[in-house]
Parts: sequence; C-alpha cells; structure tokens
Amino acid sequence: MMLRARTLLGPGPSNPYPEAQAALGFPLLGHLDPLFLQVLDETSDRLRQVFGTANRRTLPLSATGSAGMEAAFVNTVGPGDVVVVAVNGLFGQRMVEVASRCGAEVMAVEHEWGTPVDAERVLAAHPSPKLIAAVHAETSTGVLSDLEPLAAGKGDALLLADCVTSLGGIPVRLDEWGVDLAYSGSQKCLGVPPGLAPFTISDRAWERRIEKPQSWYLDLGLLGGYAGEAAGGGRTYHHTAPTGMVVSLHAGLGRILEEGLDAVHARHAEAGRLLHAGLAELGLELFAAEGHRLPELTTVQVPDGVDSAAVRKELLERYDLEIGAGAGAYAASVWRIGLMGPNAAPDRVALVLAALEDVLA
Ligand code: PLP
Repeated sequence: MMLRARTLLGPGPSNPYPEAQAALGFPLLGHLDPLFLQVLDETSDRLRQVFGTANRRTLPLSATGSAGMEAAFVNTVGPGDVVVVAVNGLFGQRMVEVASRCGAEVMAVEHEWGTPVDAERVLAAHPSPKLIAAVHAETSTGVLSDLEPLAAGKGDALLLADCVTSLGGIPVRLDEWGVDLAYSGSQKCLGVPPGLAPFTISDRAWERRIEKPQSWYLDLGLLGGYAGEAAGGGRTYHHTAPTGMVVSLHAGLGRILEEGLDAVHARHAEAGRLLHAGLAELGLELFAAEGHRLPELTTVQVPDGVDSAAVRKELLERYDLEIGAGAGAYAASVWRIGLMGPNAAPDRVALVLAALEDVLA
C-alpha cells in the first residue's frame, strides 16, 4: 500500500509542527531514564505555561483527550454527587455520559447547537453542585464559550473545562479565570500527533478528589508518583509512558513557546479571519453563531443540493486535503474546517478555499 501525505484541515488530528514531527524520529528513551524524566518535567512546565496555571499537578496523560475527560470526572465525582454539565455540542454530551457512569446525579443544561454556553442558565441549574463542567471550544459546532462567568459564579463548586480544541490556539488562562481542572489533546492546536492528554488539577480540586477512584489507570493519586509527586520527587513505575510521544509533545510545546503564545494565538486568529472572509466570498454560510466563532475550527453550511460526502472525497482524492463532516445531526449538512497548529497559516487558507471553489464549480 502506498501511503500519501495529506493536508489535515479537519477537526483533528492536524499536521504536526515540524519540530514535533522530527522528534518522533529521535532514538527511543526508556521511561525511567533520567533524561526522559527531565523531558517529562520540562513538558509539565511547558504545559503550565500554555494552560496559564501554576498547578503543580500538571502532566500529559498517556491516552487521548477522552481519557483526560474520564480522568477529570472519575477522580472528582462519585455516586450521588451533583454535576452540572453545559451541553452545546457533542463533547458536552460526552461529558454527561462520562459523569453518569461515575454514578453522579447529572444535570445537563442543553443549548441549541451552534450557540455558546449561557453561564446564567448553567449556574441556575443547581444551588450547590460538586462540579460544573463546560467545553471551552466545542469542536462539533465551532463555538467558543466564555469560561470566566462560570468561574465567577461557581461558588463552592469545582469548575472543569474541556480545552481539547482551545489549548495552543486561543488564549487559555485557567488561574486568572478560576478553572479548577482542565484537559486537552495533543493532536489539535498543540500540533503534535494524537496520543497524549495534557491534564491539570488545582490544589483545591485535589483536596476534594475521590481517594480511590474506580479507574486504576487514571487514578491521579497513583499517577502522581509517575509525574514526580512521590516523597522526595522519586519516580515510581505506574505504567510504561509512551516516551516517543512525550518527546514529540515536548518539542511541539517548545516550538509554541519559542514563537510566543501571543503570536501563536494571533496567527490562529488571523487564519480564521481569512478563512471566514474567503468562505463568504464563495457564497458559503457559517454555522456557528456570529461573535462566538472559533478561528481554529470553522463550521460551514453545506449548500442545498450539494453532496457533502462527495465533496470531501474529491478534496481528499484530488488535493490530498482532508476536511471534516459535521457532527451528530449535522453530519451531512455541515463541514468542519480546522486551521490548527502549523496549519493556522495563510497558505493553508488559500489552499482550502481554492480547492473548495474548484470542487464546488
Ligand atoms: N473534547 C473535545 C472538545 C474534542 O474535540 C475531542 C476530540 O475531538 C475530545 C474531547 C476527545 O478527544 P479524543 O478524540 O482525543 O479522545
């Protein structure tokens, strides 16, 4: 079989930064090698910078973004705990499912897809939940939700944010906003292949954690030893860390911080602006509510009479260009175009606009 290089402009994975790609070719390190442990520590430091947090418990979990979600819930909520989840897309729905499996009493505050989270409604759902959860950047709809009002009104509750599609693409300032727990995925704006879930938990959330969560693999207490939390900073074996992936994440984060977080965010913002303007010129309409659109993930209404899957197939076959289908009920009526990591660039925007124009002609 012949492999081909693709331009990945879907909802993720994105093409990695060259630094993250090159790091995959480094000779493999052992998972308890002091050199690897140094890379792991530096990776945690770099994650603190992009998350905007001083949380000492910040680490890349050895699994994809969904494991970050599972780790957040399984370590903080158990049977009977009240959890309020803001649902404005597929990943809010997934949070409801995961929290329910922990035995929590889940209150899902449903929103119309394509609209942002309404903090007032979410905060009014219950007077004293243990945890409130929301998706910062809903990849299923291309919508950005403001976490600050949720944090400001959370009272005694913990606030959990899904930052899978926001981290490394748009500003994330967990400590300034007052977010207690957050997770992400390596394969989106961080510009690294899929396989790691950056995760962070505040001391406040840590003190209220479930002592013996039902998941052994995602037990943050046990993972602490692996991440250097053990007495004296010694490392204990928990699982075999995917060392090659951590080296790649370390390199991707290094690239982002070298460019500068503000510059990286500005690059994503500008790419999104160019794409939105170009799509309008092609006569295409956007799905997400105006004023709440993500620059790194754009949802486009498929024009009437156009076969959405046939267009995506042609883009892939003729241009080696991947864009995404819509999610859930919008699978056939919406396209999702990602401009993440190195793909947040004017030449990628020009490519997808030209290819779409050609295929739609
Ligand atoms: N949350 C959001 C907002 C996502 O976009 C995704 C993946 O697309 C996930 C969670 C789940 O991450 P993964 O597919 O890496 O498990």
